[in-house]
Amino acid sequence: MKNSAIILAGGSGRRMGSSTPKQFLTLDHKPILWYSLNTFSSSDIIDEIVIVSSKEYIDHIQSEIVDLYGFHKVTAITEGGRERYHSVARGLSSVSYDTDHVFIHDGARPFVSSYTIERCLHYVIKYDAAVAAVRSKDTIKIADDDRFISSTPNREQVWQVQTPQVFSYKLITDAYEKLLDQEDRLAQAGITVTDDTMVVKMFEDKDAKLVESSYDNIKITTPDDMLYAKAILESRNKE
Ligand code: C5P
Repeated sequence: MKNSAIILAGGSGRRMGSSTPKQFLTLDHKPILWYSLNTFSSSDIIDEIVIVSSKEYIDHIQSEIVDLYGFHKVTAITEGGRERYHSVARGLSSVSYDTDHVFIHDGARPFVSSYTIERCLHYVIKYDAAVAAVRSKDTIKIADDDRFISSTPNREQVWQVQTPQVFSYKLITDAYEKLLDQEDRLAQAGITVTDDTMVVKMFEDKDAKLVESSYDNIKITTPDDMLYAKAILESRNKE
């Protein structure tokens, strides 16, 4: 069995308000991207890693991260696209054709654990689609166009999805092919593609299995996330 990982680092990090994209900001002297790369590289179940980056950071990732830290499982550093889903599609085209499963992971989530990676593999083998997620601690509201609350989903059924989002190779490549064919239609319909489980649901009618993960598996998006990330790292270093 062969498992591939796509680590997404092609975002500009607009919401961080820094000129450096968030995946290259440092935590304890290492770039944020290093952390998830290290976890996937160290995992016995991962065979190859494709990194997706914006064009201007490809050489930097190669020399300052992949070569410097000896991440030998990295087989390609591919140029990303405008939206996250374009970057995923580019990453998929660099994955080996004979792979069985693809783990899609946000490079901005440094604290994914090897346990979560293994649990996701367990469920993708069974169900073809699996995603790391945590139960929502807050009550979530659905708003109408005028920002009034229109409904309240039952909190027992509300989960926050994270990454990795993991799929059988054929399922995810078929779904993305259809997405790229129909992206103009989706844009006209006002549908924004923000994760991969919605792509397999829309185009292959496949429901992904939720895999309970950890609240530490945060996505670094805004400056306050950096404070939280530092606190997580400090508490880990004390363990
Ligand atoms: O923008 P967002 O926080 O949803 O990005 C999630 C992940 O996707 C980040 O790791 C980011 O680098 C990546 N991304 C990408 N290409 C884009 C947009 C985001 O690889 N065009």
